[in-house]
Amino acid sequence: TAKKKEQEPVCFCTNEMMNYIKRKYQIVEILKECVEKNSFEVYFQPIFDIHTATYRKAEALLRLPDNPLGFVSPEEFIPIAEENGLIAPITYQVLEKTCIFIKELMKETIDFVGVSVNFSVIQFMQENVEQKVLHIIDQYHIPYDLIKIEITESMLATNYDAIMQFMSNMTKHGIQFLLDDFGTGYSNISYVLKVPFHTVKIDKSLVWQAMKDKKAAILVRKMAEAFKEVGLHVLAEGIETQEHIDFMKSCGCDYLQGYYYSRPLPKQKALDTIIHNEVANKIKKLQ
Ligand code: C2E
Ligand code: MG
Ligand code: MG
Ligand code: MG
Repeated sequence: TAKKKEQEPVCFCTNEMMNYIKRKYQIVEILKECVEKNSFEVYFQPIFDIHTATYRKAEALLRLPDNPLGFVSPEEFIPIAEENGLIAPITYQVLEKTCIFIKELMKETIDFVGVSVNFSVIQFMQENVEQKVLHIIDQYHIPYDLIKIEITESMLATNYDAIMQFMSNMTKHGIQFLLDDFGTGYSNISYVLKVPFHTVKIDKSLVWQAMKDKKAAILVRKMAEAFKEVGLHVLAEGIETQEHIDFMKSCGCDYLQGYYYSRPLPKQKALDTIIHNEVANKIKKLQ
């Protein structure tokens, strides 16, 4: 077999690397084209409010339009956008589409409290992020408090001062912040204390682990309780089953987000889901 190994083509690894580089390059090209044409799709995932049993919030999630590579996950293309200086224009486009979505919701007389947009830390290396964000929201005449910003826990370490500055300025305008993916990074409690977050989003991996593992369940429960006690709101991600709902409710969670309620939906479907749910709730109350 030693001999056979020798005969194996040396380019096996190279091929893989070539494919990797090629794919990355193709993704960069797709992203550049989307930025130029403003052709990204933004999906919205309704978020369930336990206290009112309504969908009063949603999260904006970026999707590529039809392209030769087929489905490419944001988990793959967001880091590529970050590496290639494309994340700032992308975020502004997501924010704009979110404003258009909110504008449509505002036409209905529903009690909607906002949509969150994911921000990348790379963005904060740039100047004028605040002015740009406020300018976009102003253009659509959206009340600031209907826009929320999600920042991933692991990103806080990278650009702490700039983010703190940004957050305190935005908070003054009534824009709330959500700490995303809590439990996947360093789970640094000091950030939760120092940074003015409104809501902590417990990552789906923690929610799922709590179902399989008693210790994890205890930790998630205690964490959620502690966040509530210090005045934070708690959202659980990755809610897929009744079991997840029961457990996270018992932990005192305020919001639930997951496929059980709804997948991320294209704009019109998300509008229909949120509006229909609101109408159904009003009828229920009248009965
Ligand atoms: P995230 O911000 O933590 O978003 C939640 C992710 O969990 C979304 O994946 C959503 O589709 C998925 N999800 C929601 N409920 C469930 C569930 O019940 N089960 C499962 N298995 N998954 C669920 P998505 O849309 O693929 O996005 C992945 C990540 O990409 C996001 O994680 C976020 O970090 C990043 N991302 C997406 N859109 C943007 C964007 O506009 N800007 C930036 N900077 N990052 C974005
Ligand atoms: Mg998020
Ligand atoms: Mg998350
Ligand atoms: Mg995530």
